[in-house]
Amino acid sequence: MKFKYVVVGAGLAGLTVAERIASELDEKVLVIEKRNHIGGNVYDSYNEDGILIHNYGPHIFHTSDRDVYLYLSRFTQWNDYQHKVLAYVDGNLVPLPITVETVNKLYNLNLDCSQLEGFLKDKAEKLDEIKTSRDVALSKVGRDIYEKIFENYTKKQWGVDPAELDTSVISRIPVRYNRDTRYFADRYQGMPRHGYARMCENMAANKNIKIMLNTDYKEIIGLIEYDILFYTGPVDYFYDYKHGRLSYRSIRFEFETVDKEEYQEAPVVNYPNDYDFTRITEFKKLTWQKHGKTTICKEYPCSEGEPYYPFPTKECKAVYALYEEEMKKERNVIFLGRLAEYRYYNMDAVVRRALDVFEEVKNRYEG
Ligand SMILES: Cc1cc2nc3c(=O)[nH]c(=O)nc-3n(C[C@H](O)[C@H](O)[C@H](O)COP(=O)(O)OP(=O)(O)OC[C@H]3O[C@@H](n4cnc5c(N)ncnc54)[C@H](O)[C@@H]3O)c2cc1C
Repeated sequence: MKFKYVVVGAGLAGLTVAERIASELDEKVLVIEKRNHIGGNVYDSYNEDGILIHNYGPHIFHTSDRDVYLYLSRFTQWNDYQHKVLAYVDGNLVPLPITVETVNKLYNLNLDCSQLEGFLKDKAEKLDEIKTSRDVALSKVGRDIYEKIFENYTKKQWGVDPAELDTSVISRIPVRYNRDTRYFADRYQGMPRHGYARMCENMAANKNIKIMLNTDYKEIIGLIEYDILFYTGPVDYFYDYKHGRLSYRSIRFEFETVDKEEYQEAPVVNYPNDYDFTRITEFKKLTWQKHGKTTICKEYPCSEGEPYYPFPTKECKAVYALYEEEMKKERNVIFLGRLAEYRYYNMDAVVRRALDVFEEVKNRYEG
């Protein structure tokens, strides 16, 4: 079998590259996917009660990258969903990220926005050096808010103390000095009107794209002649774990359909200190589906299972650096996506990365 272009993995990274090759270059491309569906982790489906759920955890599209937004908008329309998150702390539901409303509810105060910065400055600890996620939080919001909102959530999420995690983990949680209680402040936000799976089907609809499902690429790759392989699977697997396994944090998703129209006040409620799960998502509040029942999902972080979040420790980064050296030596394999690059990508960032990789390849091989 001969294909000039082969893509391993039909997640957003693989589908974006395949779509561009098929449409812009008008070349045939083979996509090999080991699961029984395309879409990778953004895949969604209707459960037995007819409610649209996100099979691999809640996915909210948000971006300030206009090109990415316009690119994906070729394959879907959007609802205007703006993400909201509440945290259950000391028996109260408080908004995240931290705003004046969060502080007022936590401490029974009546501050206005102009007073929030001063309030947090008084609470913040002065540290000589910011080395860990714990340091980031302590120096931004102080010990009490750190303990109420971040410490235990991070412990549940990663299975280790924030003092052992590098600064990237907690620094993603911003503080807002206005009354905007949306979780993201990006210019474009929303959910695909008919779901992510439909969006992905539309991306893959070009007749130049051939998809082979239920196939680990190693079962078949020896039988295919190709010029360029785009690899979006795990990089350690590609090299048969020769430098060891890369660690990931996984999540067990527990879905439950409840016989009432509404379950909770917000689409996502975080539980930093109570229960073993980290958060509960109510899908209808994201998708705006109308239904007499509602489906929720509780997330239990764990170390075994599907690889979801690369482990942000020095040791893991050192192992990845060894694989990076191997990757640099490859002449016709291009590594992209969250598993091949061992980094957390949001959906918009992975699409941006795939579009950039495609342009590079186009200029190098087709120009
Ligand atoms: C719980 C969770 C929540 C998230 N929420 C958001 C969110 O709200 N907003 C947001 O922007 N982003 C979110 N993300 C990130 C988003 O899921 C990623 O950006 C996106 O899925 C990355 O796409 P990808 O193609 O790189 O990887 P993937 O989607 O993982 O695709 C890789 C594909 O390769 C296939 N594969 C692997 N190995 C092989 C093999 N050996 N042979 C053949 N195929 C193989 C896999 O089956 C998979 O389908 C979330 C991620 C997680 C884990």
